[in-house]
Amino acid sequence: MSTTGSPPTVADVVAALDRRYPPAWAEEWDRVGLVLGEPSTPVRRIACVIDVVPETVAEALAAGADMIVAHHPLLLRGVSSVAATTYKGRIVHQLIKGDVALYVAHTNADMADPGVSDALAARFGLTGLRPLHRPQPGSPAAGGSRGIGRIGELPTPMTLADLTRHAAAVLPVTAWGVRAAGDPGRMVRILAVSGGSGDSFLAEATAAGVDAFLTADLRHHPAGEHLAAGGPALLDAAHWATERPWLDDLAAHLRDALGVETVVSDLDTDPWTVHATASPSGRQGAVL
Ligand SMILES: [Zn+2]
Repeated sequence: MSTTGSPPTVADVVAALDRRYPPAWAEEWDRVGLVLGEPSTPVRRIACVIDVVPETVAEALAAGADMIVAHHPLLLRGVSSVAATTYKGRIVHQLIKGDVALYVAHTNADMADPGVSDALAARFGLTGLRPLHRPQPGSPAAGGSRGIGRIGELPTPMTLADLTRHAAAVLPVTAWGVRAAGDPGRMVRILAVSGGSGDSFLAEATAAGVDAFLTADLRHHPAGEHLAAGGPALLDAAHWATERPWLDDLAAHLRDALGVETVVSDLDTDPWTVHATASPSGRQGAVL
């Protein structure tokens, strides 16, 4: 960190982020930490994004960012080429040419306290937060209130139909919006939320006895079987919209810890950009 008025370096930013989101807390399959960048390069402005795609890279370059902190790994699987003729290679070239460093905090940021789902829970005003999925005892992330997803109490209980409308209002706007599964009149007091793909936590949401579970990327068979077994109601939001709230918390931390400027991307990178609903007449289900 800067102590003489000079800006922090890439290495300083990495150290600060590694303290808040230790790489050892990431899932085994994940790839987090510094992806690109010279450790000694000064950093005055950091762009916070969910996805490293050409559009968010263009935003970061236009904003004069020296570094991007992203949630999703740019390079998750093994690569044998970063030629500029490939989609990701083009991004790598743009970043290196622009002298922009790239750092990723993914499942280690999900696991942290505060982490990705705390920011999501805050959008709903949930109180009495506890993790939905705790790390294995003895694993590096075990301890405290760390874990993936959060469970808490809504300020006011509401029906599933009302909660679905509320979710669409408090989350960043996407074409996908929010859809729900379960009895529209079911009262929801205790809500579980998990930023990103939460399919694998359905059983834990049921075991926790919550009234509803909001996440993203839910699928037909797991959702249907979960409901048939009497599990909590489900709300399925756009993946990006469930993680975007965290960027504000990330940016605030970077400003406080390092004195850097931050820019937060509001560019909706959800791949689903078109949404249509047929006339409700003659169709089953609640149209909100
Ligand atoms: Zn995600």
